[in-house]
Amino acid sequence: MTVPPPARPTPTADGAADARRKGTPGDVRDATGHADAAPAPDDLGLVVAGTRLLTTPDGGLPRVGELPATTGWVPLGTLDGVPAWLTETTGTGDPAVGRWRSWRALAAELPEPVATLAGRAVAVATWRRTHRWCGACRAALADVPGETARRCPDCGLYVPLRLSPAVLTAITRPGPAGGPTELLLVRHASGPTELWALVAGFVEAGESLETAVRREVHEEVSLDLDTIDYFGSQPWAISGPGVLLAGFTATVADPGAEPVVDGRELVRARWFPVDALPVELPPAYSISRWLIDAVAARARP
Ligand SMILES: [Zn+2]
Repeated sequence: MTVPPPARPTPTADGAADARRKGTPGDVRDATGHADAAPAPDDLGLVVAGTRLLTTPDGGLPRVGELPATTGWVPLGTLDGVPAWLTETTGTGDPAVGRWRSWRALAAELPEPVATLAGRAVAVATWRRTHRWCGACRAALADVPGETARRCPDCGLYVPLRLSPAVLTAITRPGPAGGPTELLLVRHASGPTELWALVAGFVEAGESLETAVRREVHEEVSLDLDTIDYFGSQPWAISGPGVLLAGFTATVADPGAEPVVDGRELVRARWFPVDALPVELPPAYSISRWLIDAVAARARP
């Protein structure tokens, strides 16, 4: 838990840029983390409907005092020391102030720590909406103060927001005849089908991240890997509550092997020289793109 400092600086794009320069992931603090009992007008107010958030007319996150009288606030954490609160609504009709925007749109435009907080709001709202009843005895669950968790008042079952780890892998091979390194990109059968993306999938029970990488790559493109290196991670707000993406780079075991797609999850897979990647790549705010850009930069002479 994080106790807010007495001063409440305004979160700014400059602050976010500073945080990135220092190599810190931003100042979004943990869990339900602040001690205030009710929002102050200067606190951030995140209003979520499904996967959309209410923003100010200029597209940023509103202060609680800018919103019409709203109830049901849940502590969400802090951003640069400013307490943030979440409330859910069902309608996305014309708001009295601002406008509704998707998390994707916010992530594409706002500084990373702000987008991360917005993503956390969507994840927590989704979890709260889909974890209302005890899975063991069907009683209504009650919030656990100070945690993103609920507990059953009848049988005591503890229900935290559990994370779902997923892995994605940038697979490379040496270019033919000393040419540029090649990167394997795939097109999916569903979701954003127009993008050339990376092999990805959820980790299964009993697997390490590395085991999941090898299994997914084998299942989806019938390739075996040589070395695997951890790259970084990103919370992902779109694919359900609590998805955590872990990115890896890997080299293929047999540089002469060609990918074979399953035709079910993937419709295409091919090697691209890193100096001639397609333009239809994942968005700049995604770890998929960070991986692709890092592999391309590393292979440059
Ligand atoms: Zn129960």
